[in-house]
Amino acid sequence: MASSLVLVVNCGSSSIKFALVNPQKSEFIMEGVAERLGEKEADLKWIISGEKQSLALDEYANHKAALARILPKVQTVADGRLVAIGHRVVHGGEHFTEACILDEAPIAAIRDTAALAPLHNPANLLGIEAAMKLFPEVPHVAVFDTAFHQTLPDYAFRYAIPEKIYTEQGVRRYGFHGTSHRYVVEEAARLAGIDLANSGWLTAHLGNGCSTAAVMNGRSVDTSMGFTPLEGLVMGTRSGDVDPNLHGFLHRKLGWDLEKIDHMLNKESGLLGLSAGLSNDMRALEKARSEGNASARLAIDVFCYRLAKSLAGLACALERFDGIIFTGGIGENSVLIREKTASHLKLFGVAIDDELNRQNVGGKAGKIHQPGSPEIWVVPTNEERQIAVETLACIAE
Ligand code: ADP
Repeated sequence: MASSLVLVVNCGSSSIKFALVNPQKSEFIMEGVAERLGEKEADLKWIISGEKQSLALDEYANHKAALARILPKVQTVADGRLVAIGHRVVHGGEHFTEACILDEAPIAAIRDTAALAPLHNPANLLGIEAAMKLFPEVPHVAVFDTAFHQTLPDYAFRYAIPEKIYTEQGVRRYGFHGTSHRYVVEEAARLAGIDLANSGWLTAHLGNGCSTAAVMNGRSVDTSMGFTPLEGLVMGTRSGDVDPNLHGFLHRKLGWDLEKIDHMLNKESGLLGLSAGLSNDMRALEKARSEGNASARLAIDVFCYRLAKSLAGLACALERFDGIIFTGGIGENSVLIREKTASHLKLFGVAIDDELNRQNVGGKAGKIHQPGSPEIWVVPTNEERQIAVETLACIAE
């Protein structure tokens, strides 16, 4: 029997990314993006079997107008095999511990959570509501970035601030990138021949946003991002952890308001800030470092040290340690970052094999450790496939 297909939809405030996925395969049947929605020059691009196509959308086309163009094309390609639509939703708060079928109650709950993700959840909802109206004949499922981390124990998710701020405002650590951490840990366990239900892994998702997670027996037990995706590691333009008194200092000393401080910490910091504005892109920084640029060298050193420190800290959450998994654009490709990070973790017996490290780049999955070392794996993430798998599991229940 031909296998079932899932359309995975990821709506941002002015874009819709989509992929038609066979959950049994890594490659997508069709994928595309509608961009500049709400602007004059909105457009739609997609790719099927390596062939790129595009069309201009109507001026100021919104999410619904874009989906009205996307869905019939997807249906034609799916040829009767489309069984569900899986929507990526950034924040599920404490309400969602797993994927769920979308109807009135979950939609209301996602709307209630919007205060926690004001940039993301409203955009996700635009896509959900439009797609459900346009395509009511298939089930729609929400898959949350935060859900995988809802298994954190209270001592890992609570901040040491007055209890009321948690109970009344929901201020706690949620964690993000859950779909990716879950996907790579399941893949690594499968590839390494280790029973996921009896395993302890540390995962590092290193893209423009970066986070680590500790995964015990297949369940997330701690993670580096917190109430928002700003906490934790050094990222492309995000600072990660800083002293919380920094806000007060910048306000009193320089008269900066909250908006300016938020902008600095989210958009001007991280690799970009450390490299004195050179770049937020790791490839550019590695090149500059190799040419002797001192701030590029520093940015990379801080990135790797902070990453290793986070992994070492998260080891406290594990009862056994099988290994480390690298993923995301940097984790999947950067030989240097993997090597430098591992060099800070020698106390854990971690030892990279230089040749294997060099070989596993460009979308290849493979182990990169020396014999006797804990496992170290490179696993290309595939969030769309994970969303498709969870969507199918949800409708099967
Ligand atoms: P996003 O979080 O936006 O999905 P990606 O996962 O694509 O981002 O990761 C982007 C990062 O990966 C950038 O910093 C980019 O420089 C880095 N990257 C991609 N390829 C390489 C490479 N060959 N070497 C080092 N870094 C790389």
